[in-house]
Order: sequence, then structure tokens, then C-alpha cells
Amino acid sequence: MFDRIAQTISNQSLKLDLPVHVAVKRLDQIHPQISGNKFFKLKYNFLEAQRLNLKQIITFGGAYSNHIAATAYAAQRFDFQSIGIIRGDELAHKALNPTLLTAQQLGMQLQFASREIYRLKETPEFLAELKQKYPLAYIIPEGGTNALAIQGSQEILTQTDLQDYDVICCAVGTGGTITGLIEASTDRHTILGFSALKGDFLQQEVAQRTLKTNWKITDDYCFGGYAKTDDQLFQFIQSFEAQHRIPLEQIYTGKMLYGIFDLISKGYFDENTRILAIHSGGLQGRKVP
Ligand SMILES: *Cc1c(COP(=O)(O)O)cnc(C)c1O
Repeated sequence: MFDRIAQTISNQSLKLDLPVHVAVKRLDQIHPQISGNKFFKLKYNFLEAQRLNLKQIITFGGAYSNHIAATAYAAQRFDFQSIGIIRGDELAHKALNPTLLTAQQLGMQLQFASREIYRLKETPEFLAELKQKYPLAYIIPEGGTNALAIQGSQEILTQTDLQDYDVICCAVGTGGTITGLIEASTDRHTILGFSALKGDFLQQEVAQRTLKTNWKITDDYCFGGYAKTDDQLFQFIQSFEAQHRIPLEQIYTGKMLYGIFDLISKGYFDENTRILAIHSGGLQGRKVP
């Protein structure tokens, strides 16, 4: 079902006057609505929901979540009803932002949960209650990360990619995508994750999902925390976009590429290292001045 709607994915080599090679894997070009890594994360979840003959998809996210947007579209496309449980009950009384408006227009029923309730969303009690209320629903966790999402994310890298590149870079939110990349890689590769969030908890969470050790997550380029930005980041994004004709956004891919170029300038990579940066999409949330 999913593969039929995907455009072909290209690796775009950047023209650089630097001692390393950088290419960008354009997952942003997969599909206008189910873009980037969310395509791979949703694929096996939707196949499973279909196999189980379920009728609804329920999932969770923040107000600007790319996962909410992608899930709303996929649900409509593949004939599921969808419910999005959105963090923040104060939003119920405000005008919907573009992400939520689009999700609603795609047929997603939005339910706003207080932060206290939202925090309980992974507890067995909360999930049991949800299952009882919606017996025909398939529940996808926040950000879409579960075992089937990791299985899908392994398909991001092709055999040719594994032959052609030494270091694979990606942005990290919940850690599902990087776990798939790690599982697909060999010991010859290094997987480098650029966290969109502050703190080292993602390092620990990913370590619980894989036995491999050829990877690392840094929060050095989170710009203070999730969705935080500054002029330096915006200036980088603007000049990168102008130079390479690849659109970025400020939450994930802009920070990752900023980090890659900063590490290159500091001599972090050996000469002639071949770096593949995964463009995980997310352009529906792009807000760059
Ligand atoms: C969701 C998202 C990520 C984070 O993916 P995880 O699997 O949650 O780590 C990265 N980039 C973009 C553009 C995203 O939308």
C-alpha cells in the first residue's frame, strides 16, 4: 500500500570545497504529506492495522507534530478513521495551527489532553481504557516509534548506501529512526544522531533497543531544546537552502546539518569520510524567516 505512493528517493551530493564528502538522502521528496522518516515508521504499522482488520488509528503528538500530520493523511488515504490525542488542553479553546487544521481537514478527530493526562499515555491502565473505549482501534505511540517503526526505518538505507558511505547522520526525536539505521548498518559504519531535544536520555533509550555500539547521539546542536531556535540557526538554514537548493526546517534537519558542518569545521571527521545525511522531511512545519 505505502510503497505504491512513494516517489523515488535520491541521494544528492553537495558541492563543497571541503576534505569530506556529504550527500543528502532526500526523504523529504517521498510524498508531499507522508514525508520523510514518517513514511517508513508508519508503513508496517498501517499494514498491521489492516491485517488485524481494524478501522481506526489512534495516535499522540504535540501541536506541531509531523507524525500527527502524516498519520492523518495516511489514515484518510488507506480508509481508516483517525483520532489524534494532542498534548495541551489549552489548545482546545484556540484557533488550530496549520498542522492541526490540516489534520482535522483530513478527517482526524482531535482530542486535547492536559499535560498531566498526556503524560500517562504509555501506562498500561491508560492504554487498556483506550482499547476498551475504541475496540477497533490500532494505537500508535507518540512520534510513531515502536518495533514496526524500527523495522520500517531499516529500509531507509539501501545496499548501495551501505557500500558508498561511512557515516550516516540523522535527526533524533524519539529515537525510532536512528534505531532502524543502526540495525541496518554494519560495524564499518558510524551512525551519528543529532538530538532535537536537550539531555542524554535518548542515548539511554536507544541503547535499550539495540545491542550494537557503532552509534552516538549528541545534543550539542539542539539549540537549547526542542523547537528552540536562534538567528545563527536561521542564517545557516537560509544560506544552506540558497546554496544547495534543498529546503530544511528549524526543528530537525536544520539543526542536524548545522551540526554536521560544525563538526566538519572542527576536524571531527577523517579526511575523505563519506557522510550521508538523512533528510527526514518535516517541511510541513517549516517556519524560517
Ligand atoms: C519525527 C521526525 C524526526 C525524529 O524521528 P524519531 O524517529 O522520532 O527520532 C526527525 N526528523 C523529522 C523531520 C521528523 O519529523
